Formats: sequence, structure tokens, C-alpha cells
Amino acid sequence: MNASSDLQATLDASRKSWVESANEPSCDFPIQNLPFGIFSDALNTTRRAGVAIGDCIVDLAALESAGLLTVPSSGAGDSVFVRDALNDFIALGRDTWRSVRIQLSKLLSRDHAALRDDAELRNRALIRQSHAALHLPVQIPGYTDFYSSKEHATNVGSMFRDPKNALLPNWSEIPIGYNGRASSVVVSGTPVRRPNGQLKLPDQERPVYGACRKLDIELETGFVIGRGNALGDPIACEDAENHIFGMVLLNDWSARDIQQWEYVPLGPFNAKTFGTTISPWIVTLDALEPFRVAQPVQDPQPLEYLRHGGEHAFDISLEVLLKPQGAKEATTISRTNFRHMYWTMAQQLAHHTVSGCNTRVGDLMGSGTISGPTEDSCGSLLEMTWSGKNPLQLKEGGTRAFIEDGDELTLVGWWQGEGYRVGFVTCVGEILPAHQ
Ligand code: CA
Repeated sequence: MNASSDLQATLDASRKSWVESANEPSCDFPIQNLPFGIFSDALNTTRRAGVAIGDCIVDLAALESAGLLTVPSSGAGDSVFVRDALNDFIALGRDTWRSVRIQLSKLLSRDHAALRDDAELRNRALIRQSHAALHLPVQIPGYTDFYSSKEHATNVGSMFRDPKNALLPNWSEIPIGYNGRASSVVVSGTPVRRPNGQLKLPDQERPVYGACRKLDIELETGFVIGRGNALGDPIACEDAENHIFGMVLLNDWSARDIQQWEYVPLGPFNAKTFGTTISPWIVTLDALEPFRVAQPVQDPQPLEYLRHGGEHAFDISLEVLLKPQGAKEATTISRTNFRHMYWTMAQQLAHHTVSGCNTRVGDLMGSGTISGPTEDSCGSLLEMTWSGKNPLQLKEGGTRAFIEDGDELTLVGWWQGEGYRVGFVTCVGEILPAHQ
């Protein structure tokens, strides 16, 4: 078989793993997924690269040192997998990611004996996820956030400006974005502290300083740059997906009251810099290939540098859950799908670099809040409650206009295949009280 049919075989829906938990239809990590992350465990606290399979993590460095995994284009010296971030591995290029994916898919498939029948190596190289800690998977040089859901932009424009002219004229021509703050991107499970800042109350002339009263989430996905571009050299829209390593779930925590006062005229600043949570596993674009669908029709037709043939949206089911402190059960407060996004990841990246702006391996690009066409498919509480006017009812009683201290917010995302699903696991964060 050649490389492309080997890659195709990694997506074969009938392929099963000898890691039996991976074959459960509801498992996020079947053999067709194989997402990359950084982990450590109690026996070995060194941070290192792993791939999720069923309820386990495969220790890539352990397989490499046992001679079962070869990493093309890596030089001599210590393993590229014994790092506290995936950047050095990602920088080896797409042929290397694909080669590792193909080798792992074979090693973990049910009919492949090399690892399956080597109990000593299996014990060393397979770590239960419940025994491991997951860390931020990449060192992120830069973080950019877009604003690409038509439904979200329309809802926000209606609320803050004019329902008749909710979308500004540039929105349908430009994948609108801003340069975010990479330093405050954290991995799922990290608590996030409610920010203090300037709040402008309607009945007072000057702002007051205090804790955010309108704390919100933004349901987003993010993509991680796998191949950068040189300063001055834009990435063409048709080539843009070749620069993407994979995708994560992303919660762009937002302080709506701070945002509303500060955003004129340059856009959000402190309202968005106090924390951005991403899921720990990066799902590669290769694993997502079966879930590629057509993007929404774009009218007006985008300028030429933003055009690409074929299908560039992905069918990703998304949910948001809210669990108050002490509650037994979370309430699902939104259900939507990534396929509704107006601008594609390729168009976002082409636009980002059209000025000649360079991107680097590990850069994170947020999709923008993903809202769907119905009332129960909004990607922020701002929209779900219409700026707090229609509070949400929670399962165990109580309501929410915005997030309260102790609330735990969870994003969930998955692609449903034939008899299997490809998931991200979750993107979780609990809100701590503001500093006094
Ligand atoms: Ca955002």
C-alpha cells in the first residue's frame, strides 16, 4: 500500500483496536481518532507526548525507544516526544505527523501483535487516563480570535446596536478577528478567576472599579498552526488547510460589562485576557476528514483571495453544560454545530496572513463564538439570556443570567461516525471569586 491508502486505512470505520474500551460506540477515542496531547503520571512525572486510545494514553517515547515507532526527519539525540509541548514534533511537518498516525493505527489495531502481545512493553507504554494528568498540549506563541458565526454576530449586533442593521457592512466581506493574549490560555480543568476591571453603570457618569458582574463563556473551536509562514508571505486560501495541525475545543471566557465599556474604538482588551480554556487533546485534520461538509453559501461572493473550491466546514456536534457548585447534575444549556460557521478556517488563515503577517507552529486561532440558527443553539449566555433579561432555568432549581462563582462550565464536542464517534473529551473550567 502507498502512503495515501495507508492514511485512508486509519479512517476505516470497521478497524477495531485490541484496547477494547476504544471499541465502545460512545468512546471519544476510537482507533480512528488518535489525538495528540501532553501528559504525566504519578510514576513518571516527566511531561511527554501521548495519543489517546480508549481509556488509555499511549506513551510515544516508550514506543519509540522500544523500536516500534520511528519518527521520520527527527535528528539524533533525545526523543522529540520527551518535551513539555508538542511544538518540536509538529515542526517536523505533515509527512511526519501522518507517518506516526499510520504507524500507531497499525500498532493498536486488533490484528497487530507487536504491542498487543508484549505485556512488559504494554504495561510501560499504555497509561490509564484516570492515572494521568493532562497539560497544555502546545506552547502557544500567538493567539488570535475570530468572529465568524453569522448568527452570533447578528444576535450581538441586534442587542448592542440596531436589530435592523445588526451586521456591519464589513462583516460579510472580512473574517473579522483580533489579536488575543496567548499567555492566559490554559488547559481544561484549570480554575479561572473572575476579573476585576472598569464597569460603566448606566446611572453613573464615571466608571467604577470592581468585580465583573456579567461573566460569560464563548463556545468556540480552535485550530493549531502546524506549518507557519514567513513574514511577508501570505498563505493562499487553497493551501491554508495544509498549515493546520488540528483542532481543540476553546472557551473564550468574556467579561461582558468590562467589554461593553472598553471595546470602543479598538475592540476587546481586558474583557478577554483573563483566561481562555482549551481541551487537552488536539484532534488532527486527518482524523476529521470523514466529517467534512459544505460551508454555508456566502453572499456576496468573497473577494478572490478568500475563495476556495470544495468543502471546508466540519460536522462537529457541540454542547455547553453548566453545573453550580455542589450540584449533582449539570444542565445542558446549549446544543449547536460547528458546520453553521460562515467563514471557514482556511478563509480565516488566508485573511490573517494576507497582509504578510507571519504565523508560527503552535499558534492558536479561535473560531469565534459558535451560535446556531435556533434559540437553544447559542454559544454565549449573553445570547441565551438576551443580556440577562431571560434567565436560564437550571435542572436542580435556580436560574442563571450570567456565570456565578463556583459554577463549572463544560464544552463538549464530537463527530458522529458509522458506529463510532471522534471526540475531543471536554473543555472544563470553574470560576473562582474575584480578588477583593
Ligand atoms: Ca471570542
